Amino acid sequence: MEQEIKNEICSFCHQPILSQYYFCPNCGTKINSAPLSTTIGTQIGIYVFSIILPLICFIFITRWQGLKYFKSNDPKAKRIGEVAFIILILSTIIFFWMAFVWTQQAVQSTLNTLNADMGSISF
Ligand SMILES: [Zn+2]
Repeated sequence: MEQEIKNEICSFCHQPILSQYYFCPNCGTKINSAPLSTTIGTQIGIYVFSIILPLICFIFITRWQGLKYFKSNDPKAKRIGEVAFIILILSTIIFFWMAFVWTQQAVQSTLNTLNADMGSISF
């Protein structure tokens, strides 16, 4: 993170811009990556998610029937457990990926709001 306040030039329209701008006020080109959202709504979302996520994992693991099959001595039952285990891993990856996409979208919507606010001030 650069702390110094310096004047920069937009790489697209070459208008002077302030380094703290996220978007060029002249042409709207993205200059800087927006910082992580620190709004109350985003904070609550992250905190609630942090509380819920381990609970969901815990419930899933305790309710997961596949573990019994996976530990079974019966080869056929063990096979079912192995398949269930692969599905569990895949669904976990998909779940985290969706959570990641959801977070990105939340950040993006905050960014858009920020940009809209900045636009109304600039013009
Ligand atoms: Zn520009």
